[in-house]
Amino acid sequence: MDKEFELMEAVEQVREGWRRKASEVAKRVVAPRAAEIDETGEFAWDLAEEYSQHGFLSLLIPKEYGGMDADITSFCLVAEEIANYCASSSLLVIVQAVGTMPLALGGTQAFKENFLTRIVKEKALICFCVTEPDAGSDSASIRTKAVLKDDHYLLNGRKCFITNGGVANYYAVFAVTNPGVKMEGISGFVVEKGTPGLSIGKTEEKMGIRGSNTTEVILEDVKVPIHHRIGDEGAGWWQMMRTLNRSRPAIGAQAVGLAQGALNYVVRLAREKGWTKEKGETSGVPYTLADMATQIEAARALVYKAANMMDEKAKGTPVQVFSAMSKYFASDVAMKVTTDAVQMLQWQGLTQRHPVERMMRDAKVIQIFEGTNQIQRMVVAHTLLKSK
Ligand SMILES: Cc1cc2nc3c(=O)[nH]c(=O)nc-3n(C[C@H](O)[C@H](O)[C@H](O)COP(=O)(O)OP(=O)(O)OC[C@H]3O[C@@H](n4cnc5c(N)ncnc54)[C@H](O)[C@@H]3O)c2cc1C
Repeated sequence: MDKEFELMEAVEQVREGWRRKASEVAKRVVAPRAAEIDETGEFAWDLAEEYSQHGFLSLLIPKEYGGMDADITSFCLVAEEIANYCASSSLLVIVQAVGTMPLALGGTQAFKENFLTRIVKEKALICFCVTEPDAGSDSASIRTKAVLKDDHYLLNGRKCFITNGGVANYYAVFAVTNPGVKMEGISGFVVEKGTPGLSIGKTEEKMGIRGSNTTEVILEDVKVPIHHRIGDEGAGWWQMMRTLNRSRPAIGAQAVGLAQGALNYVVRLAREKGWTKEKGETSGVPYTLADMATQIEAARALVYKAANMMDEKAKGTPVQVFSAMSKYFASDVAMKVTTDAVQMLQWQGLTQRHPVERMMRDAKVIQIFEGTNQIQRMVVAHTLLKSK
């Protein structure tokens, strides 16, 4: 029993270490850059370098391949602390984990030794390429094809809305290897930047999360060696789903961090400007602040429950349901809290003088990516209705 307790204490200490480190980096380098990153929409290479020095870009890569071997809770803590100041900069950490996860979950030992080790050594960025113009929510309908020819596959297709598509060194690409069988016909591949036939299309001008690079990724007769396939042929769907189940709590954590950032900002203003006295209770300011804080705590609790279930590998529990709940609930809370923060500042809330305007635009995007909030509700409802 003592041993078990000591182990739990040690795990908590490691998590707290990640939280503190992320908080320090967020205050020192992210906060001063947040407004500018949003305004220019440029990729923050300086932050990528800083993150990689602290291990934020190899968080979920196992130690034996040079990674940090962090658990999902620590991953969430890092995402949350950074999102307190800048959701775009938090997404950089999340997407790197999303890109490396299929490799870590599905690759053979030799594959992992090759690619994961290189990603860490080269401080390389990787992106996760599933979405296509006609396959967003319904990712089983992707049309990108991978046709086996002797010792390689030929990949052809068009991916869109790919985070870090224009800046990545490696692309985790999901394609159809067996068109007759839908999910079981999807396989994952690693494509290296510079491979002939791989090109970057349109860069999206988004309303929010503007500091994150989002592009089309075009594959035209891209020759990919067999040993670049992630695990077995047909295992791609399983790799995608297992990855998203683990990343959705981190998206929830990003939403919690963003909402907390907005709340901290308006509470500071309310204190400085004496709003609660001046505007009085009739203005609703104190009650709105209380609601914002309560909603954020509820979202945080759900996010950490989902993350903990992943870490505990909770058997017999539908972890994907908690993962979906945490993503949609936390991002809906972020949307509500940031909208209330803008409303509280009245016309000034609409201007770039205050970060809550940016935060509100960022919250909207979080409701859409990593599976829309409608789709997350479907996951929950589907499980409720099918269980006896
Ligand atoms: C900023 C950003 C970054 C992204 N990064 C990546 C990335 O790195 N890699 C990647 O692969 N993808 C990425 N995406 C894509 C993202 O995951 C998709 O946008 C998302 O899954 C929704 O797909 P869609 O936009 O094609 O919408 P659609 O699937 O066309 O859905 C349109 C609307 O219909 C609703 N809907 C669809 N099907 C149903 C249904 N059966 N029941 C009820 N409602 C339904 C949806 O909720 C949505 O409101 C990113 C998107 C954004 C905005």
